[in-house]
Amino acid sequence: MVTSSESVDVQVIVTGGGAIGLASAWEVARRGRSVLVLERFSRGHDRGSSAGLERQWRVQYSEERWSRLALETLPRWRELEAAGGRRLVHHTGSLWFGRPGVATSEGELRAAAAVMDRLDVPYDWLTAAEIEKRFGFVRLPAGHEGFYQADGGVIDVRGTLATLAGLGAAAGVRVREHERVLAVEPDGTGVTVHTERAVHRAETVVVNAGACGAELLRDLGCPVDLHVFRMSSGYFARRSAAVDPPTWYAFLEPDASGANRSFYGFGSNPWTGGDLLRAAPDTEVPVTGPDPLAPHPPDAGDLARTADWVRAHLPFLIPELTGASTCLAALPADAARQFLIGSLAGRIPDGERIVVQAGGWAFKFVPAFGRICADLALDGHSTRHESATVLS
Ligand SMILES: Cc1cc2nc3c(=O)[nH]c(=O)nc-3n(C[C@H](O)[C@H](O)[C@H](O)COP(=O)(O)OP(=O)(O)OC[C@H]3O[C@@H](n4cnc5c(N)ncnc54)[C@H](O)[C@@H]3O)c2cc1C
Repeated sequence: MVTSSESVDVQVIVTGGGAIGLASAWEVARRGRSVLVLERFSRGHDRGSSAGLERQWRVQYSEERWSRLALETLPRWRELEAAGGRRLVHHTGSLWFGRPGVATSEGELRAAAAVMDRLDVPYDWLTAAEIEKRFGFVRLPAGHEGFYQADGGVIDVRGTLATLAGLGAAAGVRVREHERVLAVEPDGTGVTVHTERAVHRAETVVVNAGACGAELLRDLGCPVDLHVFRMSSGYFARRSAAVDPPTWYAFLEPDASGANRSFYGFGSNPWTGGDLLRAAPDTEVPVTGPDPLAPHPPDAGDLARTADWVRAHLPFLIPELTGASTCLAALPADAARQFLIGSLAGRIPDGERIVVQAGGWAFKFVPAFGRICADLALDGHSTRHESATVLS
């Protein structure tokens, strides 16, 4: 471990410069506090979870509290867009269809519709024939149905990262790249942060290390059960600009072993350019090596399965792969919990000085989670949402 003159003393250190780390840091800085982000790699790298070009924005959830959080988060996105001068959430609509009763980590069709009914969120319930006619899918199995929700859409990942980095820099956020945090040690007056290059000191630390959050928490004596896996995506050329689907998710029956065999995908967006659309299997390939952030090739079997499904049901795409990518993901192993976010108060000595956020399909909550992390780091509590206490 190296101690050098590069050591920094700030009010808040954020571990991890992915989307949520940058959001946390900006929130801290715009409340007038000094903040340092420590990032293991370079800005915008593709080894973590905030890689790639787009994420689905949706307000439908099978659990009401997450739908409420999505509805509460949209004004935060609008605020971020206004501050950064750039549109980030585009409302291309969200189409969920497939077999009612099939539940994945996304949710379940009828349960999500019931939540929308309770919250007065408008949607169109559609038969398979209506989905085919309206959106250009073909040969959907009999019994498939679903809904279209017009407020859903797509989030610009790189635009979000650039916006948060720019706003953060303007507000005084310091970012140190290629500086891996090795250990975080809270005590009665602050937190010592050991990195590969230095020893820093802060009043509180926010661990926004994504899939690596579990590693740092384990070393702190506060283990969490985070399921870390990689997902592959394929890119397919559109045959013509005449058909452009909304973001979609197809709930398909699991295989004999119970593994998820569903697919999801996107329409075109204003920032990718060209005519390539992403379609992907919702398949979880567990990360088994010691370093979750080690590069990993896309899964050939998953991509072949996706191309077959595109060939069978998406005639508006040419079913030959033109490109592929992988991305690291993490979900709480307990499927009943979608996210880990909270402070370690009461869990370890001086745990109130450590705030943690990790796991979940969380890109849509970037501005909300940044605010909650900043609340917890600066005030010790957050009144923003009950999710602020979701940590076991
Ligand atoms: C294929 C795929 C599809 C997804 N689709 C959606 C979607 O449609 N909608 C949605 O809402 N969400 C989606 N998600 C989830 C979403 O992308 C993530 O929730 C979000 O990007 C997490 O951001 P983060 O900042 O927490 O983590 P990350 O982006 O992983 O950032 C963590 C950072 O911490 C750094 N780091 C780790 N350890 C250390 C250390 N010891 N020291 C210093 N730095 C460290 C890493 O290098 C990384 O940059 C998807 C994820 C994947 C993989």
